[in-house]
Amino acid sequence: MFHNWWQAAAAAGLVVLAAVGITAAHTSALPRTLSYSLIRQACEWHAGWQTRSWPEIKSDHFRLRYRPEDAEVAPLVLQTAETAYEPAAAMLQHQPAGETLIVLYPDRESLARQFGWAASESAMGVYWGGVVRVLSPYDWVTSRDPQEIAAIFNSAGPVAHEFAHLLVDEKARGNYPRWLTEGIAQYVERQLTGFVMPGSPEAAGWYALQEMDYEFDNLADQTLAYRQSALMVDYLVERYGLESLNLVLDRLGRGATLDQAFREIIDTSSANLAVAFAREVPLSRARAEFASNL
Ligand SMILES: [Zn+2]
Repeated sequence: MFHNWWQAAAAAGLVVLAAVGITAAHTSALPRTLSYSLIRQACEWHAGWQTRSWPEIKSDHFRLRYRPEDAEVAPLVLQTAETAYEPAAAMLQHQPAGETLIVLYPDRESLARQFGWAASESAMGVYWGGVVRVLSPYDWVTSRDPQEIAAIFNSAGPVAHEFAHLLVDEKARGNYPRWLTEGIAQYVERQLTGFVMPGSPEAAGWYALQEMDYEFDNLADQTLAYRQSALMVDYLVERYGLESLNLVLDRLGRGATLDQAFREIIDTSSANLAVAFAREVPLSRARAEFASNL
């Protein structure tokens, strides 16, 4: 599998260091950010290795690897990422170091297999460990007309959303709750493409911050969890400005807890913020089709 003994040794070393980092991550925020770059390097290296034989095209800030059946649509995916780059980087005041790897999967089975998910998983894109993974529009756009595919992919495709996850991850150095990155990714996506995820018609109440922080993936109503994430970030931006949100991410990147970062930058605890959110944002916004303009 490895070309040289030193590649195998380097990979083994990174895996061990990453495992140490993951263990340390459970105890406090600071080791989590210290181990961040090791885990990132291991993940990026692994993704690059897995796709080393795939065709590749490059732009100024990205390299895209794809399967031969996606050769015609690959330039569209790369161009969409390049279009999102400047405005997303300006919004979050961060530019990734080096080229970002995007892996384009031809069908949802191959994307799901990558993460050990069921093939029925509906994700169109995934961000993990410095790598953006995208489902080919051939899988989910019924039209075969190139212009229609481009229009749909640009307005409803996952690239801006997943790239925003990468920016948050780098800025906060892996130290953030899921709701924060999901909310910011939806915020950036809406600004860039106008796309808004659907609301939850059954929403009967907001999730507690504790649940959003620690149980995000297990929450029964995932549509509500995503919508609440978007509304919480909207609330932060509306009340305190995007600049404050960026400062919060910077503080997280230097090892602060979310509560410490909120207290320092916006002078409120995360608990108080959650109370104010629940008091001021009507639940009807969880059910509404459109979430902006609080
Ligand atoms: Zn997301």
